[in-house]
Amino acid sequence: MNALDSVAVNLRAIRASLPDDVKLVAVSKFHPAEYVRAAYDAGQRIFGESREQELAQKVKELPSDIQWHFIGHLQTNKVRFIAPYIHMIETVDSLRLLREIEKQAAACGRVINVLLELHIAQEATKSGLSPADCMLLLEGGEWRKMEHVHISGLMMMASNTDDEEQIEREFNQGAALFDTVKHRYFVDDDAFAVRSWGMSDDYKIAVSCRSTMVRVGTAIFGPRLY
Ligand SMILES: *Cc1c(COP(=O)(O)O)cnc(C)c1O
Repeated sequence: MNALDSVAVNLRAIRASLPDDVKLVAVSKFHPAEYVRAAYDAGQRIFGESREQELAQKVKELPSDIQWHFIGHLQTNKVRFIAPYIHMIETVDSLRLLREIEKQAAACGRVINVLLELHIAQEATKSGLSPADCMLLLEGGEWRKMEHVHISGLMMMASNTDDEEQIEREFNQGAALFDTVKHRYFVDDDAFAVRSWGMSDDYKIAVSCRSTMVRVGTAIFGPRLY
C-alpha cells in the first residue's frame, strides 16, 4: 500500500482506539492537499496545521466544511491572515497574542476558539506558558472583556522521551492545572472543556491522562518530508 492508500486505514484504526468523547485532530502539516483529501474522504473533518502560508493554500484547495486548527507557533503579524476562517488556535502563549486574536476576530465579526498552550515538558525549545504564567494571564482578567475570543481549554506537548512515566507525569500535571483553572475561572462555562494532549507516539498515554483532543500526524499520514 502506498502512503496515500494507508491514510484511511490508519485513520480508522486510530479512531477505533479512541473513546467516543476524544476528538481527533489530523495533523497534516508538510503533507500535500491530496493527503488531507484522502482523510476527508474517510470522514475526517478536523485538521491541524502549523504554518500560515501552507494552511492558506490548503484552505483554498479543500472543502469548506473542514475545521482547521492552528497548532504551530503563531506570530502576531500572521493572525490577521488566519482570522477569517480558523476554527481553533491551540497555541496561545502570551497576552499579546491573545489581544491580537481579539482584534482580528473582531474585524472579521467572528469569535475564535483558543487554547492556552502550556510548557510543562523538559525541553527548553518548546514554546508555551509555564503553569505560573498561565495562572497570571488568567488572573489578570483582561481576557474577560474580550468578546471575540473564547478560551476553550489547555494544550500541551509532553517531553520527547521514551520514558512513559515521565510523559504520564507531565500529562497529569496538565490535567491537574486544567482542574484548577476550570474551578477558578470557568466554573460556569461548559465550553471550557478541551484538554488537547497526545501525538502519534503518546496519544494512548494522553487519553489515560484525561485528554479530550489528540493531535496525530505521523501515525495517520506517515513521515513528513521537510
Ligand atoms: C506536528 C505536531 C503534532 C503531530 O505530531 P506527530 O508526532 O506527527 O503525531 C501534534 N502537535 C503539534 C503541536 C505538532 O506540532
